[in-house]
Amino acid sequence: MMQPTMSKAGLLLQCGWAFRNPLVPKVIANVPMRYGSAFHEVVANSLEAGVPPKLSLAALPNVAERFGVDAAELREHAQEGYLTLLDWLGGRNAWSMNLLPVPKGAIIIEKAIAYDTVTGKARLVSSVDENHVYTDVTDDEHPGTVDLAINLKAYGKRVPARLRRAVIVLDHKTGMTFDTPRESHQLRSLAVAFCRYWGADRAIVAINHAPRDGVPAIFADELTPAELQAHADLLGPAFQRIGDGSLRPGPECGYCAANSVCPVYGGSLAGLTRELRAMDGSLLEPLQQEAGKAVRPVGQLDLDTPEGLGKLHMILQMMRKMDETYTEVLKQKLREGVVAVRPDGKLSVLKTVERDNLSLASIRRAFTKPGEAARIEKMLRDAGAIEKLPREELRAVDDR
Ligand code: SF4
Repeated sequence: MMQPTMSKAGLLLQCGWAFRNPLVPKVIANVPMRYGSAFHEVVANSLEAGVPPKLSLAALPNVAERFGVDAAELREHAQEGYLTLLDWLGGRNAWSMNLLPVPKGAIIIEKAIAYDTVTGKARLVSSVDENHVYTDVTDDEHPGTVDLAINLKAYGKRVPARLRRAVIVLDHKTGMTFDTPRESHQLRSLAVAFCRYWGADRAIVAINHAPRDGVPAIFADELTPAELQAHADLLGPAFQRIGDGSLRPGPECGYCAANSVCPVYGGSLAGLTRELRAMDGSLLEPLQQEAGKAVRPVGQLDLDTPEGLGKLHMILQMMRKMDETYTEVLKQKLREGVVAVRPDGKLSVLKTVERDNLSLASIRRAFTKPGEAARIEKMLRDAGAIEKLPREELRAVDDR
């Protein structure tokens, strides 16, 4: 049964119906999930080996085999993500703090913690079992696993005075989409738990974003004591709602494991079909052109109303989720030699294309003499060849 874990904190704060509910189907790990787990394990092995800046790759072939992922891709990807992380820890962060070397006892890597929503205390607990279940937690505890946690109290004057009662919690993400660290309920829950565990009241929450096809980067935000307390205050009532039968539909429904059995949502695919059926004809124009024939509009979606526009946002979110999940399913089938025939008579095929790739990681790989890569990176930044560009994104926020 689905546990109210920190990785599901966003869903937990919206709606408690799915948790500990025997009707909810088990989530089967798909290819991106398995790849993410393999990446986590390789980076954790390296951090635990305590030999920065050298990546420890001895266990990589076994990890790749166990998770059924490509070892060569994993090796290159983990190396890029790890080096970016080391740079960040070494001082290339918004606080200009050099956190290396880490004082003894100040770092926790890939460990489970549980926050008690009644007592407000936190403790380290056993890792998940083979079914991804935390087995030694109580019904009041909110468990989660941190990729990397650092107790800044142990650094003394090496960190700014404001941060001497602070923790860092960092999560690796290998997918293309993610919340900002500040928006991540999972990171907020981890931050609350580690603050309680180490007696701190402020946190830096960070995401080591290492997408499979992109340049790794670390995003981090600082959370104040008031922001952490506000999150802790939400967790108690959210736990109280578990099992009370209430349903609170909202932005998390598209990602909810219960949506196929939920009385309100009625199934993600069924829900999507319903939403698509409600679309205005104008939204189908690109499909009409593609198909070369009329695609009949089957309903109305009023894009002149706040509700219609919000509904469109949710539909797009659900489509992206489907794209992310089913593209991997399709690719895996094609790799296995299964033939896919499209309704237009064409065949779906996998094609490998070669692209030029110049990234911070490729520069660091090519220029290995001390200071050489940093000099080239600085030169490229000064010349404007490495740009920081603003990017507009659609997000869902509470209407408060
Ligand atoms: S689909 Fe939405 S309303 Fe239904 S259980 Fe999940 S979060 Fe709650």
